[in-house]
Amino acid sequence: MATIQREKIYECEVKRYIKKPSGARSPFWKIKNVAEAVADEDKEYRCKDCHGKVKLFRKHVANGPASHVEHADKQDSEYCAGGMYFLQATDGRTPRLAADPVV
Ligand SMILES: [Zn+2]
Repeated sequence: MATIQREKIYECEVKRYIKKPSGARSPFWKIKNVAEAVADEDKEYRCKDCHGKVKLFRKHVANGPASHVEHADKQDSEYCAGGMYFLQATDGRTPRLAADPVV
């Protein structure tokens, strides 16, 4: 029986805020290891390559896979520089940003 291949991305971007001298909070995205982001209780994640929505998988069992993300939308993965489907594609396609990026 073939194993189902799942995308596992161990680095993502998390949303952070920087406080401006005016007191306003200005958001920015920071590249981070997913396991660290989970430990730091980051709330907002996106793909670091295509900026698309991702699903978070936390590490549950000691010997299981480390916390990681996968693209929420397969289409993003098909055209993301770090996407499993993009990396498997053999048609010489070029990567692009997600159709509906997380901002
Ligand atoms: Zn992506």
